[in-house]
Amino acid sequence: MADLVRLLSKLRVASGASSPCLLRCLSSSAASFQSENQIPSHPVHPLTYSPDLTRTDPKDRNVQWVFLGCPGVGKGTYASRLCSLLGVPHIATGDLVRDELSSSGDLSAQLKEIVNQGKLVSDEIILRLLSKRLEAGEAKGESGFILDGFPRTIKQAEILEGMIDIDLVVNLKLREDVLIEKCLGRRLCSQCKKSFNIASIDVKDENGNPAMSMAPLLPPENCMSKLITRPDDTEEVVRERLRIYNDKSQPVEDFYRSRGKLLEFDLPGGIPESWPKLLEALDLDDYEEKQSAATA
Ligand code: ADP
Repeated sequence: MADLVRLLSKLRVASGASSPCLLRCLSSSAASFQSENQIPSHPVHPLTYSPDLTRTDPKDRNVQWVFLGCPGVGKGTYASRLCSLLGVPHIATGDLVRDELSSSGDLSAQLKEIVNQGKLVSDEIILRLLSKRLEAGEAKGESGFILDGFPRTIKQAEILEGMIDIDLVVNLKLREDVLIEKCLGRRLCSQCKKSFNIASIDVKDENGNPAMSMAPLLPPENCMSKLITRPDDTEEVVRERLRIYNDKSQPVEDFYRSRGKLLEFDLPGGIPESWPKLLEALDLDDYEEKQSAATA
């Protein structure tokens, strides 16, 4: 990640302009998008940088992974558990958006409207928030990352691919009726910001979908009175988010599949069933045992 942040700074110096370099990358990508779609184009700054800067040998650095999956699949839950295990930051663009939304910044009102309708925030805004987060992490000496909720569009994936080596992309999958139930049961603690789920899922096998049961993920006593529901977790908005996911984010899966980086993972149930299987799929089952032994 240090490489990515260095690249960002270098781009700023090289360009001699004050706008963040990620926005420059975006401008460049936006130009091709505009010409493809015959939208009148705006002036675009050419991008010149050395991609070699970002290609550190994976054995000399921490993991650089991405988690993909539909709303409600549990990206945040599994990504944050893996981050604790591997000692890397969990960077969720949804959290960055919600932090900005609850601040008094200029973007707040604009973001509220977009997010509450289940729409995607523009690539420009999301890249600005991500760039700010990476710089703050770099200042704290963070190394490696698991990105959750980014990239979500082909443009975002292309920009990321042009800037840094992503080692692995984990695509979490669950049947759609379960995704909807999980989104509707999701609750956040307004104080500690942790995510819980009050839904008790028990669905039969039908239309080729396997039967599945998941126990609720209930909060501890001290969070119980502080639970809130995300305004975008209503049935109408969840259905719109799923529609947008299928439209914009499934091509991102194809992007990584064609590069041989995609690990498909069908969640077999709740955390007790899924976590050990995920570790096995990632070849981390021994790692977890060694970590627990070392801390015992
Ligand atoms: P979920 O995966 O459950 O839909 P997230 O917490 O990841 O929710 O994101 C919440 C909202 O934040 C999204 O609906 C979208 O409006 C915005 N958002 C998050 N990440 C991105 C992204 N990479 N690009 C555009 N919008 C994003």
